[in-house]
Amino acid sequence: MATNLPAATGFLAEVRRDGARPLEPVFAARGSLARWHERTADRSLHIALVHSGAPDEACARDRGRTLVFAGELYNQEDLIGLLPGRVLPGSDAALVVALFDVYGIHAFRLLNGRFAALLTDHGHVVLATDHAGSVPLYVFVAPGKVLAATEAKALRAAPQGRPVPEGRPVRRRPGTHQVPAGSVLDIEVSTGTCVPHRTWTPPLARRILPEDEAVGTVRRTLERAVRARTGAGTPLVVLSGGIDSSAVAVLAVGRSAGPIDTVSMGTDEADEFPQARVVARHIGSVHREITVPTSDLLRGLPHAVWAAECLDPDVIEYLLPLTALYLRLGGTTGGDGTGRRILTGYGADIPLGGMHRENRLPQLDTAVCHDMDTFDGLNEMTPTLSAIAGHWSTHPYWDRDVLDVLVSLEAGLKRRHGRDKWVLRAALGDVLPHEVVVRPKIGVHEGSGTTSSFSRLLTDAGIPQDRVHDAKRLVVEEIFDQVVVDGRHPDDVALDTVVERVADRPAHRARPVPR
Ligand code: ATP
Ligand code: MG
Repeated sequence: MATNLPAATGFLAEVRRDGARPLEPVFAARGSLARWHERTADRSLHIALVHSGAPDEACARDRGRTLVFAGELYNQEDLIGLLPGRVLPGSDAALVVALFDVYGIHAFRLLNGRFAALLTDHGHVVLATDHAGSVPLYVFVAPGKVLAATEAKALRAAPQGRPVPEGRPVRRRPGTHQVPAGSVLDIEVSTGTCVPHRTWTPPLARRILPEDEAVGTVRRTLERAVRARTGAGTPLVVLSGGIDSSAVAVLAVGRSAGPIDTVSMGTDEADEFPQARVVARHIGSVHREITVPTSDLLRGLPHAVWAAECLDPDVIEYLLPLTALYLRLGGTTGGDGTGRRILTGYGADIPLGGMHRENRLPQLDTAVCHDMDTFDGLNEMTPTLSAIAGHWSTHPYWDRDVLDVLVSLEAGLKRRHGRDKWVLRAALGDVLPHEVVVRPKIGVHEGSGTTSSFSRLLTDAGIPQDRVHDAKRLVVEEIFDQVVVDGRHPDDVALDTVVERVADRPAHRARPVPR
């Protein structure tokens, strides 16, 4: 049994009153598949679960309710404290179903976790996402039917459904909607009536704190988030040598009995290997470097879109090098107990405005507000990215408490003394080498040469420079249509043909050279 991974990393669940045959479970996430069904007088519940060896722990039953839970919680101790006198729940699913009995749908406001959940509750189905929607959740609703899955492609054979209030429609999949981040949908099965509730929103106000208090709060909160994520075995940190992942790595060391594992990826065109080595040496990690040929990296584009179900070309550029890395980690063939628990430094720049490379505070906070308003639905944090190789990844900077702290700090703590992400750098100043603390940001898409090689793929096909970004969007869209809408396996996507088709669109034909 893989005790170091969550019990389940994905599910397809169908609540029906019509007795129709359940859908074929199709997931990009790799793991063991368990299927079962339950029947009550007026409905059936079919479940297909992607699990890591203990499917029973991903399911909990209590007082006529059944909960299906993919992912994990990070504040179990606090939550258990809310259930005095009860038998200690043996799994996160059991804990949530017990909390539901006390708090109803408001139980989901209490959770700090990385999860998607479905709960049947006496004629209702309750769907819930974590605060960041970090485990995507899709739903199809019709009177007498509620189908939900952690991947949109699992619902591709569902018939036409009705609109879901607050749900985000999935491209070319009428009736399939994505459940918003930090949400509960309460659906009456017989009528298909759906009532949405928000359980989290990003803070809008900003806190004014003395430097040392801000620095101490960031350190403590991040330490706790790393601690909650390290699990029982040796943690693996995907390490660039930038401040974000170096901070996670050094804090993870404090949690592990022996040395931790770190791994860096690079391509034949670019890498951050020397920078990562400095950190690996400093923390004494068992460190690996994985070089991916650029042509192989680009051939992974369909896999990144298949895993993330994302239409945004910029996000796909961030995720592509990580997809390539996860697929090359080795050591797993699925739910056989060898999948790794991976910690990343992903996402720190969003609440800290780290991508914003100028000194003006209003622009920094405008960028933070914009990014916190628009992250939902991009699936940037999805665990499926590593689950396609049988691993579980988790992002301490998008812990609910860390995010609340980082977003709400006033902009002058984020950019200070001429440095971006100042408060984070200061919070790690005593445990990382100075050169790491002051290292300027390099995005994963830059450090691996992904942005430039993807651009070159398109310019080599004749697409003019000024149309490249738009062409990237069309390439990603076309791949999405093949692997999500049409259900094709990414190995069967002919990337060259996709690029040629985009290049042949009239807007992209090379302009005649002016005489
Ligand atoms: P900084 O933002 O200051 O560069 P960073 O490199 O840690 O810090 P990002 O560049 O935002 O963060 O990259 C996001 C995350 O992706 C990293 O924190 C790290 O976990 C992972 N990552 C980025 N580049 C690599 C790489 N070359 N090898 C392994 N993991 C990487
Ligand atoms: Mg970086």
